[in-house]
Amino acid sequence: MKITNNYTDHKVREWIYKRVAKSPNLYESMIKGTVFIKDLKYNSIIRNSIEQHYNSKNLPLFTHVFIETISRCNGRCSFCQVNIDADIRKFSLMSEETFLNIIQQLKKLNYQKILYFHRNNEALMDKRVYKFIQIARENLPNANIRLFTNGTLLNVEKFKSLTKYLTMLKINNYNDNLELNEPTKEIVNYCNNDSQYDNKVKISIRRETELLKNRASSYVNRKISFKLKSPCLYPFKQFNICASGKVVLCCNDAWEEEVLGDINHESMLDIWYGDKFKDIREKNIKGRDNIKICSSCDILHVPKTLRKN
Ligand code: SF4
Ligand code: SF4
Repeated sequence: MKITNNYTDHKVREWIYKRVAKSPNLYESMIKGTVFIKDLKYNSIIRNSIEQHYNSKNLPLFTHVFIETISRCNGRCSFCQVNIDADIRKFSLMSEETFLNIIQQLKKLNYQKILYFHRNNEALMDKRVYKFIQIARENLPNANIRLFTNGTLLNVEKFKSLTKYLTMLKINNYNDNLELNEPTKEIVNYCNNDSQYDNKVKISIRRETELLKNRASSYVNRKISFKLKSPCLYPFKQFNICASGKVVLCCNDAWEEEVLGDINHESMLDIWYGDKFKDIREKNIKGRDNIKICSSCDILHVPKTLRKN
C-alpha cells in the first residue's frame, strides 16, 4: 500500500494552498501562466500525435472505459461539480442488464486496457458494485480494472472483496486537516504493510477545499477561465458511460452535457466510430471553442510518451 500526502510530499503545493489559493485571482494567474506554457509547448506535438495515431481512417479502440453505475456522491469537495450540494443530475442507477451488456461487449472485444468503476460519483454508494467488479474480472481477465473511492463507505470486508478482483484501488482520503479518516485508518491498520497490497492499493491524502483545474469549464470554486490552443486527447481515448446509459464526451463531463450516444440503444463500437463522436473529434481539432464544455476547459492531458519530446 502506498500512502501519499498531496501537501506534505509536495511542499510547493502546500505553499500554493496556504499562500496563493486563498487569493483566487492570484491562483488563476498562476494556473494561467503554467498552462499557457504547457499549451505552447505541446500544441503541435499533440496535433502530430492525433494525425499519426488517432486519424479518423484508422482510429484505435478506446483505452479508458469509465462506468458509472450510480449518479451520486456523498462527498463535499468544494472543487467538484458533483459534490452533494452542487450536483444537478437526475438520480440514476444503471440497470443490471445494461451493465452485463457492457461487459459482454467488452468481452467480445477482448478488452485488456483500463476499466474504471467510477466516474463522477462515489461508486460504493451502489451496493452492487462488489458483484459487478467480480463479474467484470471473470469476463475480462486481462483488463486493468480500477476503482477510485473517497473511502468513507469502506470497511475491511468490503476492502477484501474489492481487492480480490481489482487491479488497483485508490482511496482519495479528503480531509482538510490532512488526517486519515476513520474508515481509511481501519484499512491501513488491516493491511499493516502486507506486501500483497504494495502495488494494488494507493491512498492519497487530499484536502476537500483544494483548488484544481476547472474541469470542463465548470466553475465550482474557480473564477476566471481561458482558452487553450491544444486539442484534447480524451475524446480519442476515453469511453464514458453514465448511470443513465448515456455516453458522454470525457471524464470531466460530469453533468452529461455532451451526449454522444446511449448504451441502451447502440453498441459501444457504433458509438465510438459513429458520427457524433467523429464530429466532436473534428471540432476539438479545429479548436476547443467549437465545443461548449471544452471552450474554457484548462485540462491539458499530455501522455508520458509525448512528454519525452
Ligand atoms: S471529488 Fe470525488 S469524493 Fe469529492 S465530491 Fe467529487 S466525486 Fe465526490
Ligand atoms: S477539453 Fe476538457 S471538457 Fe473537453 S474533452 Fe478535454 S477534458 Fe473534456
